[in-house]
Amino acid sequence: GGPAGLTAAIYLGRAGVETKVYDPAVPGGMVFMVHQIENYPGFPDGISGRELAAKMEAQAKRFGAEIVQVGVKKVYREDKEFKLDLTDHQELMARAVVIATGSNPRSLGIPGEQELLGRGVSYCATCDGNFFRNEDVAVIGGGDSAVQEALYLSQICKTVYLVHRRDQLRAKKILEQRAADRENLRFQLNSLPQEIIGKDQVEGLKIMDKDRGKEQILKVTGVFIYVGMKPETDPVKGLVELNPDGFIKALENTRTSVPGIFAVGDVRGKPTRQVASAVADGCNAALAIEEYFLEYR
Ligand code: NAP
Repeated sequence: GGPAGLTAAIYLGRAGVETKVYDPAVPGGMVFMVHQIENYPGFPDGISGRELAAKMEAQAKRFGAEIVQVGVKKVYREDKEFKLDLTDHQELMARAVVIATGSNPRSLGIPGEQELLGRGVSYCATCDGNFFRNEDVAVIGGGDSAVQEALYLSQICKTVYLVHRRDQLRAKKILEQRAADRENLRFQLNSLPQEIIGKDQVEGLKIMDKDRGKEQILKVTGVFIYVGMKPETDPVKGLVELNPDGFIKALENTRTSVPGIFAVGDVRGKPTRQVASAVADGCNAALAIEEYFLEYR
């Protein structure tokens, strides 16, 4: 149900292929949680993730794709077709399957993270940022997600500490520059998160200076964690080949090791994770499926 899956559905529906999109959540995937998307072409003033997701869903429906709010537990190969076990205990047979399950936020694994989840610890600034209005918060990570969400939080919160384990960010320069320009956004570099402190609510984040080994506690009421993504491959684990990082092995034509199964978007092993590249994957999968139908008539 994210941009990759919905794009495949737009193209397949338009090509007259009977297409069903299964997603237990509201369509949109990770995009649904993004406050503002500024680098997707066609929207010079930016667009909220929710609005973009809704537009993609409407476009897929317009071409006949059916959006079903049910999950897929497992995909099995049965001769030249596939059997899908659905979370509502139904089964479905399909001639081709597009895996567009995306990836989920990685956890840090430090003390306090699980215990205080939902009580100050969050993986979604757009969803939870408002609870921390005029308060001090920390964002952990140095990639695009961490910096983008720290920028968002800096509009709501009093102070945002961007805690990163190295002395250089991984994020794009344009985001880094914007963060550097925000007065209430402070870079806390070379800092290793040690523990999230608090009894019933987050009261602080203990960090350690990587070079000097010195510990300090940032007095924050919110800790937002953006330390990368974990691919959601459960439905096809053991069926398609994965790369060593756990993403599905597939080239740009999105064909996996199993003919008839295609992988698109953030679940596919690839260097770029953007809405635009997810959309490209969806388009490639739909075209590859049309070719596949001709090959396996
Ligand atoms: P990412 O690029 O993998 O960055 C993860 C960050 O977390 C890195 O800075 C990493 O540090 C840090 N990290 C990882 N494990 C850690 C640990 N145990 N302790 C402390 N820090 C840890 O993940 P992402 O930012 O979620 O981005 C994922 C993909 O989405 C990227 O391809 C990104 O370009 C894309 N994206 C794009 C946009 C945009 O274009 N606007 C927005 C969001 C995401 P190191 O740097 O030291 O490895």
